Amino acid sequence: MEKTVYTLCFMCSVRCPIKVQVKDGQVRWIEGNPQVPGMEGSLCPRGSAGISLLYDRERLQTPLIRDGERGEGRWRKASWNEALDYVAEKLKKIISEYGPQSLVMGERTNLSTHVSKTFLKALGSPNHFTHDALCKGSVNTACRSLFGYTDAQIGIDYKNTRHIVLYGRNIFEAIAVKEVNGLMDAIQAGAKVTYIDPRVSVTATKADRYWMIRPGTDLALNYALIHVILQERLYDAAYVDRWVLGLSELQDFVQPFTPQWAEQETGIPADEIIDFARKISRDKPSVIFHYGYRGAHQQNEIHLRRSILILNALMGSVEAKGGIFFKKGPGALGKKPARKLTDQTLPKVTTVRFDKVGTPDFPLPDPAHGVPQVLTEAILKENPYPIKALIANRFDPLKSIPDTNGMKKALEKLDLIVTIDINMSDIAWYSDVILPESIYLERTDCIQQANGLKPQMFLRRQAVQPRYDTREAAIILKQLAERLDIGQYFPYQTMEELVEWQLEPTGFTLKDFEAKGFVAYGKDPIFWDRQDGIQFKTPSGKIELVSSLLENAGFPSFPPYPKAPEPAENRFRLTVGRVALHTHVSTQNNPLLSELFPENVLWINTAKAKAIGIQNNDRVEVSSSVGSGTIRAFVTDFIHPEAVFMVHGFGHEAKTASRCFNKGLADNVLQENLTDWVGGSPALHDTFVTVKRVQ
Ligand code: SF4
Repeated sequence: MEKTVYTLCFMCSVRCPIKVQVKDGQVRWIEGNPQVPGMEGSLCPRGSAGISLLYDRERLQTPLIRDGERGEGRWRKASWNEALDYVAEKLKKIISEYGPQSLVMGERTNLSTHVSKTFLKALGSPNHFTHDALCKGSVNTACRSLFGYTDAQIGIDYKNTRHIVLYGRNIFEAIAVKEVNGLMDAIQAGAKVTYIDPRVSVTATKADRYWMIRPGTDLALNYALIHVILQERLYDAAYVDRWVLGLSELQDFVQPFTPQWAEQETGIPADEIIDFARKISRDKPSVIFHYGYRGAHQQNEIHLRRSILILNALMGSVEAKGGIFFKKGPGALGKKPARKLTDQTLPKVTTVRFDKVGTPDFPLPDPAHGVPQVLTEAILKENPYPIKALIANRFDPLKSIPDTNGMKKALEKLDLIVTIDINMSDIAWYSDVILPESIYLERTDCIQQANGLKPQMFLRRQAVQPRYDTREAAIILKQLAERLDIGQYFPYQTMEELVEWQLEPTGFTLKDFEAKGFVAYGKDPIFWDRQDGIQFKTPSGKIELVSSLLENAGFPSFPPYPKAPEPAENRFRLTVGRVALHTHVSTQNNPLLSELFPENVLWINTAKAKAIGIQNNDRVEVSSSVGSGTIRAFVTDFIHPEAVFMVHGFGHEAKTASRCFNKGLADNVLQENLTDWVGGSPALHDTFVTVKRVQ
C-alpha cells in the first residue's frame, strides 16, 4: 500500500514542511512539501538523510538503565514501565530531600516544549532552559531592548530584499531551506549580498562584497557604518523621525568611531566602509542587516546585536518589504492560536532559577530560554541551591556548553541523569537512564503555530510505525507525570488527542491538515502601516536606541567600545561554525552524513602555519586554558591570521555511536565558559588557543 504524508522534518530545528512517500510501511522518498511556497520540493542534505536515520541500527531502540560506572557504557535493557518507575522513584526521593528546584531540564526547543515546561511547573521547579539560548540569547535580549519583541517574533523578508548583510551568518551552509530559496530568488532578481567573516565560507564565495574582518571586531565596523550613515544623512529620515528615539545620543556616541579608526581595528579599508554605506543606503528600506547567529560571539555580544538592529532601524527596514518584519499571529485576523499545556492554571513557581535569570543578578535574559552555560557553576557551587537531577531532552550539555571538562565534574555531583533522545549522545552515554524517543517520521507531534506575514499552523504527522521500542517525548513525560502524581495536567492518552485538545479553540481539526500538511488563517501578507500602524512593544511604543530595558536594569545603552585584543604570539582566536552536512551535535553518526563529512579539521592561515611548522593535513594539538585535543590541520589562505576555525559538533565520546566516535575534536572542550552578562549568550569566540604539531 502506498500513501503520501505531509509532515515536518526534524533533522534540524528549522522544521521544514516535507512530503513523505510511504510504501508497505517503509519510507521510500522525502522531499520538500511542494505546496508550501518557498520549499519548491527542495531539501537540504540533512533532510534528505532522514531515511538513513530511520533505518539506522545504532539509534536508541529500547529504554536502558545504567549497569556500570557513569560513562563506562554498560547498560541493561528495561521495559518502559521499569525505566519510568525507576526515574519516578529517584525523582521523588530527590525532590523530597532537596525540593523540586533541584530538578533541571535542558532541551533543544521542539514542538512539545510546552509539555516539558508544564512537567517542571507542575512539580514546582523553575529550571527549564533551551538550546536556543546558547545560539542567540543576546540576540533575543537585543531585540527586546530596541523593539520590545523577541527575535523569535521577528522575521526576515529574504525574497524581496535588495541588499542583505551577513555577519558570519553562513546562510548557504547553516541551511534553512526556505531562507536559502528566498535569498536565491532575491539574488536572481538583482539583490546584493555583503558577507563579513574572518573565514571564507561558502556564503562568502557567493557574495558581491566579502570582507575578511579581523576576528572580534564586527562591532567596530558597525559603529563606523553608523557614523557615516548619520554624518552623511544616508538614513531614512521620515522613518527615523516617526519611529526612532535616541538619535542624538547615538550621534554623540559614534562621533569618534570614524572609518579611519575602524580601519585600524577591523582591517577593512576606510574608503570601502564609506563606499558600502553610501551604496546600501540607496536600496533602503528593502535592506537587511542580519542580526542572528554567528559573527563575533563575545562578552559584549548584546552590543554587536544592537548595532546590527540599529542599522536596520536607520535604513527604515523594520516592517518594510524586503527588510525585517514583526510576525503576525492569528489574533491579527481576530482568530485564536492553538492551545498549549502551559495555558492551563498551573502551580505558581516563585523559586529563583538556577541561572538567576530575572533577579537583579541577571535581570535581562529571557527566562523562556534561560542561560544554559551557568549550569556548570550552579551545580558545582550549589549556588543558589543544590541541583541533583538533570533531564536532557534532545540536548547534550557535554557537547553544547563550553568547557566540557567543567561540565563533566558538575555531572558527577548529580544523583540522577536522564536522557530522552533518538541517538546515543554523549550525555546519554553518561546518563543513568535513557528513554528512547521515536524519530520525527514515526510520530505525530504538537501543533506548530507558524506566525509570520501570513499566520498558519503546521502539523508533524506520523508517516510510519516506530521501528523500535520508542515513544514520543510528550507521551514519555506524561507517563512520568502520572507516576509523580501530576498527571492531571496532561489531559491526553495519545498524540492525536493532545493535538485535538490544542486545536479546540482554533476552529480547525486534525483532518484539515491532511491535504497539505498545514492550514492558513488568511490569504494575504500582513504588514503594518509604516506611518501609523507599527506596534512596537517598548514602553515608548517606538524603537528605543536609548533602551529603557537596559537603562532600568542599570546597563548603559552605549558603553565604551572594548578594543579587541590581539592574540599573543602563536595564539589564535578560536572560531566555530556550521557545515551544510550536519546539525549541531546530533547528526555526526548518521550513516549517510558521516560518510560525506566524517570529521572536522582545524582551519589555520598558511603563513601562520608555516611559521610554526605545520603543514596541511598534519595532526595538531590545540590547547586552551580549559582543555586540549588533537585534530588534522587544514592550511589555507582563506582564514584571517588571528583566527583558527573548526566545525562544531565533533569529537563524540559515546562508543556505540561508532561512526562518529572519537572523530575530530569538540570545540567546547577548548572553549572557556564565558558569558555576556547583559544579554545572556555564551561568548563562544572569546577563547584563545595554541596550536602545535603532534610529533
Ligand atoms: S533545513 Fe534541512 S534538516 Fe533542517 S528542517 Fe529543513 S530540510 Fe530538515
